[in-house]
Formats: sequence, C-alpha cells, structure tokens
Amino acid sequence: MYIDPHVHMVSRTTDDYQRMALAGCVAITEPAFWAGYDRSTAQGFHDYFRMLTDFEPRRAAQFGIRHHTWLCINPKESEDVGLAREVLSIIPTFLECKTVLGIGEIGLNKNSRNEMTVLEEHIALAMKHNLLILVHTPHLEDKLKGTHLIMDALRNQGADPGRVLIDHVEEHTVRAVLDRGFWAGMTLYPDTKCTPQRAADIFEMHGTDRLWINSAGDWGVSDPLAVPKCQDELRRRGHLLETIRKVSYDNPRTFLSQSGRFSAPERA
Ligand SMILES: [Zn+2]
Repeated sequence: MYIDPHVHMVSRTTDDYQRMALAGCVAITEPAFWAGYDRSTAQGFHDYFRMLTDFEPRRAAQFGIRHHTWLCINPKESEDVGLAREVLSIIPTFLECKTVLGIGEIGLNKNSRNEMTVLEEHIALAMKHNLLILVHTPHLEDKLKGTHLIMDALRNQGADPGRVLIDHVEEHTVRAVLDRGFWAGMTLYPDTKCTPQRAADIFEMHGTDRLWINSAGDWGVSDPLAVPKCQDELRRRGHLLETIRKVSYDNPRTFLSQSGRFSAPERA
C-alpha cells in the first residue's frame, strides 16, 4: 500500500492507473504543471483545472485510487506576468472543490525575476486562504540557488514551513530544506535525477522525518511505479517494514492531512 503524492496523470494513460492500483497505490495528488504545451490564455488553464478537479478524480476512482490536486500556473509558463495574474484570479473559484489541497507546484524554473514575482503572488494567495504549498525546485545547476531563493521568499512572506513541501530535493539540497523546518520530497526517475537507489541512500544519510518519495510521472521518461520500486530497494537493503511504510504512506498522509481534505484509508 502506498501514496504517490506527486504524479502528473494528465500525461499518463488509464493503463498506468491500473498498474499503479495493482502495485498498491491507494491515493495520489496531482500538482498543476505543464500540460504538454504552453497555454495561450487563462481560459486554457480554466479548462485544465476542470480536468484536474473533475475528470481525473473520476478516472482514478475506477481503480480505487483517490485523486487530489494542487492549482497554480507553473514556473515554466509564468514568464508572462499578465497571463499569470489572470490565472491566479481564477484559482479561488476552484477552491470550493473538496479535492483541492493547496497551491502547487509553484517555484522557479530558470530563477528569473518574473518567475519570482509570480511565485510571491502564489505564496500570498495560499496564505490568504490558509492553503498548503507544494514547491517545484529547478533541476540541475540552478537547483541549489533556486531552492534557497524559494525558501527565502517563503520565509519573507511568513509562510509556516511545516505547511510547505519542497519537492525535487537531491543530495545537495535535502539537508538545508529539512534544517529550515520544511517538508522535503524526492522525485524518482529511472535514470536521470534521483533514482530509487539514490533515494534509499538519502534516507540512510538523512533519516525519514518530513521526507517523502514520489514518481512525478511526467512527459519525459518517467515511471509511475517508481514509489513501489523504491519500497523494493529499501526492502532489499533490509530496512524495516515500518520505515518503508513511514516514507511511502505515513509521511505523505501526515503532511497532506493538514489540508483537512486529503483522503486515504488507515493503513492495514
Ligand atoms: Zn511535477
């Protein structure tokens, strides 16, 4: 039994839901992100938010998987501040939907000034509505700098780090994120970025508190079964069942339950 707290099912087939259910997935959360193309209008985001709050929960439910979502305009498309503000203005109309957990995945992509402006406005929106925040951190060489810029922006606006998950952490960023009181997520990829083996190493180095794993399941080469594969890696290394449950079920459930809207069964 596991929760995948960050998977973009918009890029995935119904067969993936079937395979995830067979592997023990009972609940997922899907952050708003890139839909495979840049949207030209706020209306395009409105339709995407309808997909995330209406179609995907029903598609997941066919396989006994509870689907939740996060809303935002992602950093990759937030260079146009005018468009971003239009998208931000329609988010409150979706907050009544019971499967919306918060604002995400927000953050930085290229660490640009416009991205930072839009990030700050998202943080303000989340705080106004008392919502959880899910953060995307840049990949590769911009990650360390971007992670610090994002954490500084959150702190400057007075966000509670216990209600913020900073995702895509790696060996060189995980310690700083945890030390500042945030939750941290490791995104598992088959070859690039953090593999299930590297994630297992990171648990062994940094412990299991406030740390979760997810598959991303995005448009690139990615694996919607990455979480159970990491469970297997931990089992193979002799970790206790309790530890494996903590990182793949209890931790996401504890963090997400702060929304008052997350739904997953008590684990067996
Ligand atoms: Zn993502």
